[in-house]
Amino acid sequence: MSIATTNPATGQVLKTYDPMSPEQIDAAIDRADLAFRQLHGTTVDQRAGWMNAAADLLDAERDEIARIMTVEMGKTYASAKAEVTKCATAARFYAARAAGYLADEPADAAAVSAARAFIRYQPIGPVLAVMPWNFPLWQVMRFAAPALMAGNTGLLKHASNVPQTALLLEDVFRRAGFPEGAFGTLLVGSDAVEQILSDPRVRAATLTGSEGAGRSIAQIAGRELKKTVLELGGSDPFVVMPSADLDRAAEVATTARCQNNGQSCIAAKRFIVHSEVFDAFAEKFATHMSALRVGDPMDDRTDVGPLASERGRDEVHAQVRDAIDNGGTVLVGGEVPEQDGWWYPPTVVTDLRPEMRMWREEVFGPVAGLFRVSSYDEAIEVANGTAFGLGSNAWTRDPQEQARFATDLDAGNVFINGMTTSYPELPFGGVKNSGYGRELSALGMREFCNTKTVWVGGEDAGPVGPAGAHAE
Ligand code: NAP
Repeated sequence: MSIATTNPATGQVLKTYDPMSPEQIDAAIDRADLAFRQLHGTTVDQRAGWMNAAADLLDAERDEIARIMTVEMGKTYASAKAEVTKCATAARFYAARAAGYLADEPADAAAVSAARAFIRYQPIGPVLAVMPWNFPLWQVMRFAAPALMAGNTGLLKHASNVPQTALLLEDVFRRAGFPEGAFGTLLVGSDAVEQILSDPRVRAATLTGSEGAGRSIAQIAGRELKKTVLELGGSDPFVVMPSADLDRAAEVATTARCQNNGQSCIAAKRFIVHSEVFDAFAEKFATHMSALRVGDPMDDRTDVGPLASERGRDEVHAQVRDAIDNGGTVLVGGEVPEQDGWWYPPTVVTDLRPEMRMWREEVFGPVAGLFRVSSYDEAIEVANGTAFGLGSNAWTRDPQEQARFATDLDAGNVFINGMTTSYPELPFGGVKNSGYGRELSALGMREFCNTKTVWVGGEDAGPVGPAGAHAE
């Protein structure tokens, strides 16, 4: 894949970049390694000062950063501006919380025959971040803010279609005061990932992307014995039970499916509706979906812009065609418009069956599948019946059902009567083929820390060394 900015609204290639040579990659890793040692001599307060300065730059330059994001991957300008603001908020969050998250954690010294025992969280070194284009700033920031605050350094291999966004973020961290190399962008294709991850100076990797990329990176990391965090795809269920507020559920379902032009890992993708309210919900949902305005992503009145690539658009349409060919019914949308750029209309398909691709695959575009179920147990069976387990939603006003959904949905999060969203305060990640590890919150920061046990013996600690334990 070439490294280029191509406007998805027109299909026009605007700027291309030569990939870095192996020697340039080596030099970038060297800078990240050197910067890691420089960060070792800094305090959390110093790093917080730089992180807050990065947040200020994002706020001050929001509109121009957002414009570049929209031109590179087609999200609406309004949502791009909101994404920049969210990144500034996360930067400030970690600047404020890092000292607490990294503080030594006392352990029960007497129980381990020590004078003192505690847990210390320390950075591990340069971390490779392989990132997707769909939230081109946020996906990177939710790794970079905790990593840099912990004292790690970051090497970003961004998706090949968002090179300008990648370069501008490197520039923001540099201008904010972080040492040269603390956060570096590698303009490379995915074929360079093996060289980077095999380098002994690179200590770990985080990937947000597809299952295929996850398997590939996990294999290399396994061979090299390096830690990975994988945030992969999802096909989140959105369950609607008879007691739900149907008006609100249908409205939120529309946003949950079509935000970011339908290209979100945590978009609701499978709408699993109890037969008692199926027809009413389907009608309200289809009405909202068909009312969405598709058009120029720079126009503030637009709800849905183009998909990010021709390949992505064609794949979405192939999944819809497959459903139609196998007996599915299209309630709204389903046709590719004849115009330049990679457009796809908000679409609702019903009468889904297990043999259809839409039943088991992730659909990365504004296409909703409607499933009819006749009981709570059947809803859970369909909801959990995919290889994914990223997010999940349930709509019910029955407190007992709410409690059961929270336990029974097999996913990294459960949002009840609301839309799945990521917050710096809450851990984010999946189970099953949606990946492993967590981002955000204290857990996200500690994924790339050495959780070090410190045991200190002494006069009052009894025998030196843990009595009866192996020295391991
Ligand atoms: P993708 O093809 O996996 O690309 C993501 C990143 O991985 C890009 O930087 C890409 O580089 C790189 N990559 C691709 N194949 C690779 C390989 N074999 N080895 C190493 N790196 C590789 O993903 P996508 O299809 O563009 O993005 C959408 C997917 O990401 C969806 O499945 C979505 O659900 C998932 N996603 C998950 C989350 C989450 O938090 N769980 C968030 C957002 C998106 P190139 O661009 O150079 O190919």
